[in-house]
Amino acid sequence: MHLLPFSRPVDFEQRVACEAPGEGHWFVFRGDQLLVEMGPLERPSDDLRVRARPAWARLPLRKNHNWLGDAPARTLYLGRLGAVDCWAAELPEDAEAPAGMSWEGLRALFSVLDDAHFALAGRAVQLINWDRTHQFCGRCGSRTEPHPQERVRVCPACKLSAYPRVAPAVMALIKRDKQILLARGPHFPPGMYSALAGFVEPGESLEQCLAREVFEEVGVQINNMRYFASQPWPFPHSLMIAFVCDWVSGEIKPQDGEIEEANWFEVLQLPKLPSKISIARRLIDAVVAEMNRSAGNTNAV
Ligand SMILES: [Zn+2]
Repeated sequence: MHLLPFSRPVDFEQRVACEAPGEGHWFVFRGDQLLVEMGPLERPSDDLRVRARPAWARLPLRKNHNWLGDAPARTLYLGRLGAVDCWAAELPEDAEAPAGMSWEGLRALFSVLDDAHFALAGRAVQLINWDRTHQFCGRCGSRTEPHPQERVRVCPACKLSAYPRVAPAVMALIKRDKQILLARGPHFPPGMYSALAGFVEPGESLEQCLAREVFEEVGVQINNMRYFASQPWPFPHSLMIAFVCDWVSGEIKPQDGEIEEANWFEVLQLPKLPSKISIARRLIDAVVAEMNRSAGNTNAV
């Protein structure tokens, strides 16, 4: 099966403690930037948020344990990729890259860095953020401690457990005849449209969330929701769950502040779309290909 970007690599095993540190992959972050060795920024990008991608990029590979010395603000053991230990570390915001290395955002490294390393970088940045923001108990304020066997920080005073956060969000691509509904938010790159998406609320099923988000954002009613696929999304800690749906009724009314513009698009006349890094693009491409096949548009991509 072809994995969506950021999905767990097939030969990765999550662990929280390293028995015998050896050769390791290091996922070292400064804020949301990863430390890599990389070539010049000369590869074209399919991501409107990324000007160019490096010609090549790889993780720094070091044989000894904790090669960063005393510098990291935090170090987390992630587990094993094949036979290689994987570590995440965070350096201070003003840390300089060591000689021959650079800081680079994950979006620019998509399709350049090894796929498994890219996926683990997405996992690492989420766990670093979680670790940084759960140093103290949310109930009593005591300093929390890592659990020796589980990925959780525990309060020694009141026993409150803080697990890494994952925020489920649904995505809806709505079909009507030969058209699909795409929208853009105020923070999208110019000209880019995507499928609708929104976070699941406490006490809500995915189906209820889909119907509510779609109605709130564009004022239309949908039915016939079909699951497409899901993708871990580390910006900052979501799980995107994508569906295809059919329009039932209502005309488009964009929600103030959330939706700058929303339109029905013919599948042969689509606007600029998100990068293939995201499930949004996979969803749109799959639905458009299926609609083109059923319409007999043989020259379609
Ligand atoms: Zn506590």
